[in-house]
Amino acid sequence: RCGLVAIIGRPNVGKSTLMNHLIGQKVSITSRKPQTTRHRIHGILTRDDCQIVFADTPGIHTGQQRALNRAMNEAAMSALSDVDVICFMVDSDKWNEGDEHVLSLLARAGDIPVILVVNKVDRLDDKAAMLPLLDKLNQRHDFAEVIPVSALGGHNLDVLEQALVSRL
Ligand code: GDP
Ligand code: MG
Repeated sequence: RCGLVAIIGRPNVGKSTLMNHLIGQKVSITSRKPQTTRHRIHGILTRDDCQIVFADTPGIHTGQQRALNRAMNEAAMSALSDVDVICFMVDSDKWNEGDEHVLSLLARAGDIPVILVVNKVDRLDDKAAMLPLLDKLNQRHDFAEVIPVSALGGHNLDVLEQALVSRL
């Protein structure tokens, strides 16, 4: 079995960190600065039972004026067509209009299962603090699964990996 997974989300939610951790290699540049990832970067996770090809997307931007932003949006959207699973990644304690914009794009996902990946849970002292966000998001899209993770610390990434594999 083999499949393609797209990781989407606004800049800085931790998409590149997640892909690097899952495939165990530093193939995608991470940074505190937004827009470090300018092109789509693929990584391949090889397991005994399957291979998963990841498409880490550049952050999807709301400002459409500049040509760079437009090109980055197109790269991000083309990652969405033709994938087996979409990971929609959000920051557990920061929601802004960038997230709102990416969420609106999920309407185009059609039948593709979307896993809501709630990242940076290591930052939350009280895990219940993310419940209002989860309630809100569940009302906006029918997510296949909701998985809280720490991409940086590796928390729950085994659960996420298993969820991906089971949908290929
Ligand atoms: P991207 O723009 O979505 O690809 O985000 P990056 O992977 O480049 O990460 C942006 C910033 O968030 C970096 O400084 C990461 O170290 C940090 N980061 C990513 N995942 C986590 C996490 O699980 N916990 C914390 N505390 N920081 C994280
Ligand atoms: Mg990135």
